[in-house]
Amino acid sequence: MSLSQGRPYLAIPGPSVMPDAVLQSMHRASPNIYEGELHDLTDSLVPDLKHVAMTDSNVAIYIGNGHAAWEAALANVLSAGDTVLVLATGRFCIGWGEMAEGLGAKVETIDYGAQSSIALAQVEEVLASDKEGRIKAVLAVHVDTSTSVKNDIAGLRDVMDRTGHSALLMADCIASLGCDRFEMDAWGVDVMVSGCQKGLMTPAGVSFVWYNAKADAARGDRVTAYWDWRPRVNPDYYFKYFDGTAPTHHLYGLRTALDLIKAEGLDQVFARHEKLAQIIWAAFDQWSTTGPMHLNIADPAHRSHAVTSVAIGSPNGDALRKWCEQNCGLTLGIGLGREPADGFFRIGHMGHVNAHMIMGVLGTIDAGLKALNIAHGDGALAAAASALAARA
Ligand SMILES: *Cc1c(COP(=O)(O)O)cnc(C)c1O
Repeated sequence: MSLSQGRPYLAIPGPSVMPDAVLQSMHRASPNIYEGELHDLTDSLVPDLKHVAMTDSNVAIYIGNGHAAWEAALANVLSAGDTVLVLATGRFCIGWGEMAEGLGAKVETIDYGAQSSIALAQVEEVLASDKEGRIKAVLAVHVDTSTSVKNDIAGLRDVMDRTGHSALLMADCIASLGCDRFEMDAWGVDVMVSGCQKGLMTPAGVSFVWYNAKADAARGDRVTAYWDWRPRVNPDYYFKYFDGTAPTHHLYGLRTALDLIKAEGLDQVFARHEKLAQIIWAAFDQWSTTGPMHLNIADPAHRSHAVTSVAIGSPNGDALRKWCEQNCGLTLGIGLGREPADGFFRIGHMGHVNAHMIMGVLGTIDAGLKALNIAHGDGALAAAASALAARA
């Protein structure tokens, strides 16, 4: 008998849980797009979007998903034939690199596989040997959602500075913004992309590119009028923000989401994600003492605080996901970009998530392991409860 009736929890790494306040703010008649409240509201988003990215640089808003922001960022800086260095730690940076290739760039990839973070010493060697400065941009993903690895973006900047290489540092923070600490200016990131449907808790459909003066000056020949970031920043005419009709309701939702982040405080938002992640890891430390299940990323310093990728052996990943959804109303993430995909699952714990939701996820997984006879160590829930008690 299914016990799934009730409020579901979509615990996948995006789209994330939407706060009721965000949904309620979107439940309204279409506003006037020519003047008035919507214009003021859109202007008000800009400083808050800079605040969550910890930057004074520019932000351009696009109607589109994360892939749209990927393309916008690349199109503004690349020329045909430019070389891009892709630092792959999972599916997502590879995908961003493929997009650069589609725009006519030459792509060089260092692939660190699916369980490791970027090896900074190796990047230093590659950049130091590029005496002619062929490499126009370095592409890195802060948190790769397929592997749940977190890369050291500030360390990457240090390495680039040490070699004196002038390449742009471009970071994908689609899975980390508003979850894991990210400081665009302090870390020396030139271009950063993100979307609204993960840490920013808004339905998918709006994405962002933050860019500094160095990135703007690097402008190549690939950019078209629609993707050009310049008219979208401080526009003298409201329509230029989006080059057409504004994403009216998304803007109301995003306004409310940014208000929630402001009210909680960005440092507290980061601390909450960190503590919830540690509670999840405490459970896995026990579960993985026996049986096939283990966290994909061994080093806690390189684990995301927003998504957790788990290896569990084929076909246990699919079986567990189905059991949790059908019996308990909990939807876990698929083993995206992994082989075999049914040997993995992921937990999304980004955005509007609190401790009792995490305890529910862990309790449901524990029950699923028992129901499906998947071998596992004892004491995971007690360990999670102790970890929560110590941190609350
Ligand atoms: C979700 C995600 C993307 C893709 O975003 P879409 O909105 O699905 O296009 C890219 N990079 C990372 C790190 C992501 O988590």
